Amino acid sequence: SLQGLVGAAGQYQIGAAAVARIQEAERLPSEPQRPAAVLPVPGAAPAELRFRDVRFRYAPDLPPVHRGVTFTVPARGMTAFVGPSGAGKTTIFSLIERFYEPTAGSVLLDGRDLGDWDLPELRSAIGYVEQDAPVLSGSLRDNLLLGAPDATDREVRRVLRTARLDDLVARLPKGLDTLVGHRGTKLSGGERQRVAIARALLRRPRLLLLDEATSQLDAVNEAALRDTVAEAARTTTVLVVAHRLSTVTLADRIVVMDAGTVRAVGTHDELVVADPLYAELAATQFLTATG
Ligand code: ADP
Ligand code: MG
Repeated sequence: SLQGLVGAAGQYQIGAAAVARIQEAERLPSEPQRPAAVLPVPGAAPAELRFRDVRFRYAPDLPPVHRGVTFTVPARGMTAFVGPSGAGKTTIFSLIERFYEPTAGSVLLDGRDLGDWDLPELRSAIGYVEQDAPVLSGSLRDNLLLGAPDATDREVRRVLRTARLDDLVARLPKGLDTLVGHRGTKLSGGERQRVAIARALLRRPRLLLLDEATSQLDAVNEAALRDTVAEAARTTTVLVVAHRLSTVTLADRIVVMDAGTVRAVGTHDELVVADPLYAELAATQFLTATG
């Protein structure tokens, strides 16, 4: 244990610097312990997010995934991340969720290092819709209330409208009590995706992370997804790893990533002119940018 090690340092004259290096390597809290990270994540206001020269690798023997990533996402609005497969887009979300810690640099939420926030509160302030987010068997209502069992009917109706699911629910004979089938197989891929978004929105996240599924959508579902994301971005901060031109063109800003770096940031109209990689991805409707 660390205590034992610190004791041993006295006994065997291991230098303090060596202990510090070992602590660093093992990511243990330094002595005296930094005060427990219990800052409450306040209120329901949309969060601001910053990456400041973030470097990251999944393991010491693996190549770096982020090689100095810097960007700022202001509160509210939509920020899209695009770039080739393996560029490090999904890993951005893993760092925001604090599934991993940056190897160097920092991630700041409302100007404070993520490590300063109480972790369960941080996670509950973030809505994370993963790629191919699961829809479970059970009713539509069960699926929506998964993370917000106390939500009122009124709140449920509001997110159904936002996620463009209200028409679907109105058409179903049993409405919200309709069983969606094993893993949601009675819903289309686009509907499943929006159920997952509605579920996340019901928890009133200060930050919504959406890793768009790469599967093709028909025109109706594509428009519904685009409208859902745009609507959500009016009331919260939305970050989306985008695989669809239709999503990206509505973004307030687009972060173009390539091989663990930020190549360019701008709007669609700016980037088609300014960034050849973006122009190339846009020309193929991002179909090459899976992952
Ligand atoms: P993108 O979403 O842009 O396709 P990712 O962030 O998923 O990129 O992955 C970036 C790089 O990190 C890829 O080389 C990928 O193989 C690697 N990677 C992703 N997740 C892990 C993991 N859990 N462990 C090790 N390597 C990973
Ligand atoms: Mg990805």
